[in-house]
Amino acid sequence: MPSIAENISAVSRRLSQFEQQYERGPDSVKLLAVSKKQALEKVVLAHKAGLDHFAESYVNEAVEKIGALQTQEDFNTYCWHFIGPIQSNKTRLISQYFDWVHSVDRIKIAQRLSQQRPDEHEPLKLCIQVNLSGEATKSGVHPDAIAPLAEAIMELPRLQLRGLMAIPAPSSEFTQQRAIFAQLRQIFWELQAHYAQIDTLSMGMSADFEAAIAEGSTLVRLGTALFGQRQ
Ligand SMILES: *Cc1c(COP(=O)(O)O)cnc(C)c1O
Repeated sequence: MPSIAENISAVSRRLSQFEQQYERGPDSVKLLAVSKKQALEKVVLAHKAGLDHFAESYVNEAVEKIGALQTQEDFNTYCWHFIGPIQSNKTRLISQYFDWVHSVDRIKIAQRLSQQRPDEHEPLKLCIQVNLSGEATKSGVHPDAIAPLAEAIMELPRLQLRGLMAIPAPSSEFTQQRAIFAQLRQIFWELQAHYAQIDTLSMGMSADFEAAIAEGSTLVRLGTALFGQRQ
């Protein structure tokens, strides 16, 4: 079995190759390591191998992992992204432990994150999760609801809206994957035209990140491609 360091270099090579192939700038796509349901040791190994951005989907699991790393000398070099569904009773922990949240889809959640963000932390960076056509999940806002939600979030202190995230229904067809990501890119451009601070298009996972990069992703969220199957 290849080591995590080997997976990281193989994935990084593919990332650079796709940036070139689709005429994206060098280093225009950030690699986010999705460590949910992966052992803490794997996170440490990936960090030693050069990754700084990690994503979790389950609050309790994340708090346990981040808490365990807090005693390490290099803890400040980790950046934590929350990418899972958000229940109201978990916003306090999310606002305390994370740097980014990709899965905001209700103003009520944004308000709570804003109120609960500790003063000593930098503003919490947010992406609005979009529900693209044909998705089975209930998470994410309809494209028509993005503009009013974005406007409301811009009014809230302690938050910084940075972009959009989506998890399209799985498709093994490359052209189909691209067509769906192209929808999100279009919505992203519209949002960018309104707000200068919008710079993050969070799309692409292990099975579809080539298509996402082809369509303008600035951040791919990779779990199994880096860490292998989840527990
Ligand atoms: C689990 C998860 C990923 C990573 O999926 P892989 O297929 O393992 O790369 C990415 N994004 C979100 C929102 C996830 O929940």
